[in-house]
Amino acid sequence: MFRDMYCTRCGSTAMPKEGLAGGFFFELFLWGLFVVQGAFFGGNGLWILLLVVAAAYSGWRHSTKRRICPKCGSSDIIPVDSPKARQSRTDSDCASRDVHSGENGAAAM
Ligand SMILES: [Zn+2]
Repeated sequence: MFRDMYCTRCGSTAMPKEGLAGGFFFELFLWGLFVVQGAFFGGNGLWILLLVVAAAYSGWRHSTKRRICPKCGSSDIIPVDSPKARQSRTDSDCASRDVHSGENGAAAM
């Protein structure tokens, strides 16, 4: 369960999507090299090295799940209740809020 996040790039407030860091095809490529090396050249030093590299890359990629904006895909998202998000949202809401406070002020007088 995620809370809504504020996107500093497109200014939308939405439930973030989860994305993996790095590239899927690069990970596939590393594992492909490992398989090819093992199948055609046997388990030599390079094969072990490829295993380590592929495993490390996969591990890094899957451990660094990041949350991204569902609208623009940016990872520059911050919690809605953070001061910076509040500031940005207040700025954009300012116009409509001023109208309401103006009406209230007029009614009170
Ligand atoms: Zn966005």
